[in-house]
Amino acid sequence: MATAADAYLARRLRPFATTIFATMSELATATGAVNLGQGFPDTDGPSALREAAVAAIREGRNQYPPGNGIPELRRAVAAHQRDWYGLALDPETEVLVTVGATEAIAATVLALCEPGDEVVMFEPTYDSYAACVAMAGAVPRLVRLHPPGWTFDPGELAAAVTSPRARLVLLNTPHNPTGKVFSPDELAQVAALCRDRDLLAVTDEVYEHLVFDGTHVPLATLPGMRDRTVTISSGGKTFSLTGWKVGWVSAAAPLVAAVRAAKQFLTYTSPAPFQVAMAHGLALPPGELQRLADELAAKRDLLCEGLEHLGYRVYRPPATYFATTDIGPVAPGLGAEEFCLALAARCGVVAIPSSVFYGPGDPAAGRTLVRWAFCKRESVLRDALARLASWVP
Ligand code: PMP
Ligand code: GLN
Repeated sequence: MATAADAYLARRLRPFATTIFATMSELATATGAVNLGQGFPDTDGPSALREAAVAAIREGRNQYPPGNGIPELRRAVAAHQRDWYGLALDPETEVLVTVGATEAIAATVLALCEPGDEVVMFEPTYDSYAACVAMAGAVPRLVRLHPPGWTFDPGELAAAVTSPRARLVLLNTPHNPTGKVFSPDELAQVAALCRDRDLLAVTDEVYEHLVFDGTHVPLATLPGMRDRTVTISSGGKTFSLTGWKVGWVSAAAPLVAAVRAAKQFLTYTSPAPFQVAMAHGLALPPGELQRLADELAAKRDLLCEGLEHLGYRVYRPPATYFATTDIGPVAPGLGAEEFCLALAARCGVVAIPSSVFYGPGDPAAGRTLVRWAFCKRESVLRDALARLASWVP
């Protein structure tokens, strides 16, 4: 579809003129709909962190911090990776603070890929990946995840890296939009491929602490992976503070140096007071993070049970903010995009058509899949379910 940006936008970015999240949040605001689209909580995270940010501003932490991040946060990230996963990192050379995971992903892909290099990604794919690959002039190689368990065919994965231009695997676990947590066996397959084909790995682990069933295992902990993996995370999801945009990269020093080279010309550095507060967040006791995840698990159950009751085919997620449904039983014949537009207008609820998370090669892919965010107050989820009950096919 042609958009207003096309008159000036470089061709490689035309498929990415507007993000689905902005489009659907604007639709929710314009129609007064309940917004179960873009993934942000409707209650703010721990007051201790918010107070720490206020105190940092009052105490004068308001000028450019070091380009690689304030030492307190780099030390906190290293301590977090050690305490949670047994990964030893030097906070001086092996940690880089970024403007959210979004910048970390962009800087990493820009830093590591030559034009024409191939990036293996699991589809459906979080929206920024394809755009970042395009900005780098690299080429996506997609490996499909299949419902209900969002598993992949190992043969398809192996076939995705046959070219000498294969450069890296970009893995997202826990996974947006499906909520999948890659199993130890699946991670072992990815790791084996990276080792055998001498590929780098980039892992986006922003939902690492929002796991309800199963366990999150960073790819970097697998044999032979520590020195070839760039691990990316962010505090936005863990602490329900998505607007703060503090993320981080951890990896072996040469990889961090490469990503830093790109990051310094994207943003140079990340907002200082929020870095101070995030360092406090990472030092919270594990029980506090578990409490946040338990609250979210109850919301997942409420939304999934409600959607099932309404007739949707629900792929109950073991992690993240999102549940994916097949709308086939409730909206026979409708595609997800058409359904989501009609839903906002007719029922006052906004959700995300998951079809947008699939590449252009297969227009039928994800055609009837819709993603719903459950990181909302219980009353809001109940209101949304009540509104959805008025849907007539
Ligand atoms: N990766 C994934 C998988 C996400 O869902 C998101 C959305 N928040 C991001 C990256 C971006 O994170 P941030 O807000 O820290 O930039
Ligand atoms: N990660 C959020 C989501 O998946 C959106 C963040 C954004 O708008 N870029 O809904």
